[in-house]
Amino acid sequence: MAGSFGRGDGKQPQDKDFDFNLSDDEWRSRLGPERYQVLRAHGTERAGTSPLDKNYDPGVYNCAGCGQPLFTAETKYNSRSGWPSFWQPLEDAVETTTDRSHFMVRTEVHCKNCGGHLGHVFDDGPQPTGLRYCMNGLSLDFHPGETPPDSDKKG
Ligand SMILES: [Zn+2]
Repeated sequence: MAGSFGRGDGKQPQDKDFDFNLSDDEWRSRLGPERYQVLRAHGTERAGTSPLDKNYDPGVYNCAGCGQPLFTAETKYNSRSGWPSFWQPLEDAVETTTDRSHFMVRTEVHCKNCGGHLGHVFDDGPQPTGLRYCMNGLSLDFHPGETPPDSDKKG
């Protein structure tokens, strides 16, 4: 059951160039083994292991790979999935591709700036978007109390 939002072209993010580009060795030393496994090798952390899952403090969630702001705490909600979940990313922060691994068709979410794998998006989220951005906490870097750079142009 593919969601109506699934419109990836089947390409893996690694097939294209991103603004923020490092070699594999540079990524390994920058991220450490756990974050590397998620962001660069499409791994998934165990449910309930991220402290960010239960974090509802105000702030901004940046990409742990490149530091680009991805989500704000205002769009975070408790999906009870065991992973940090959001109903909307920041504008132009993420891209999606179709993920056909594990005999499922899912929509993979990655950072638009560095291509780092963040998680998946499902269409069983709350309004107003109806989307559930199911993220790995390891791919996120929480900055408490901060607001995204262009937050003043939103209503
Ligand atoms: Zn990134």
